[in-house]
Amino acid sequence: MRLENKIAVVTGAASGMGKAIAILYAKEGAKVVISDLNIEAANLTVEEIKSAGGEAIAVMANVAKEEDVQNLIDTAVTTYGTLDILVNNAGIMDNFEPAGDIEDEKWERVFAVNTTGVMRTTRKALPIFLDKQSGVIVNIASAGGLQGARAGAAYTASKHAVVGFTKNTGYMYAKSGVRCNAIAPGGVETNIGASMTNINHFGMERIHAGMAINPRIGKPEDIANIALFLASDESSFVNGTVIAGDAGWTAY
Ligand code: NAD
Repeated sequence: MRLENKIAVVTGAASGMGKAIAILYAKEGAKVVISDLNIEAANLTVEEIKSAGGEAIAVMANVAKEEDVQNLIDTAVTTYGTLDILVNNAGIMDNFEPAGDIEDEKWERVFAVNTTGVMRTTRKALPIFLDKQSGVIVNIASAGGLQGARAGAAYTASKHAVVGFTKNTGYMYAKSGVRCNAIAPGGVETNIGASMTNINHFGMERIHAGMAINPRIGKPEDIANIALFLASDESSFVNGTVIAGDAGWTAY
């Protein structure tokens, strides 16, 4: 098993890629803290893991809230004794708005979840990692964190920020036993569309042109396999970088 006895926290693990990552990590021997805003769905992920013989608990946490993040990481440590792997996966879409149509509230919410949430959990986990000079952070960025028109301006900027944060964190702690990498998924079949409420038609039309060069839509398990590689020692020489998981979409 590739993650035997490792303790992992996965945010947004009640659905989509986070759920697939949590299930795969548990299958590979990790004890997984399934965290999400949606605690009912998080409990279902835990049940699925336990019925397959794995170990997991669910913790309700809004990654945008400092007190929830504190409680999440503290609960992981009090339950399982330490933390080895942090997967920052929770994220929401914008509505494909270009700059001229951005509303403050939507911009701030997208950044609070997609970007500030990643900083909050990382900041809280780092003292544990630094204390034992060992730890792995996997951030779920996006093709929209590398390219200009995979989503609206807010989502695109929020995920570019995650890429920058990943590189900075990877570099800063490279001599302290901590690795931090990101995955940039292309289009993946999940429930993320549910976070879109009022799609901007101009923005969608501009983005839609790029769909013609997307080789295919992925499955959450395609991304989970990359997240397993990044969490395991097989990637011990990989740090501060981004792996695209998009069938070649961003290669164009
Ligand atoms: P999803 O909607 O299926 O799952 C996301 C989960 O995050 C949900 O369970 C949701 O309840 C949770 N969540 C949302 N806001 C939260 C918050 N504030 N605190 C805690 N949990 C919260 O979506 P997904 O597609 O699996 O998304 C996972 C990640 O992948 C996101 O960061 C997303 O931006 C990124 N991504 C998705 C795609 C795609 O095509 N689906 C492409 C690139 C990147």
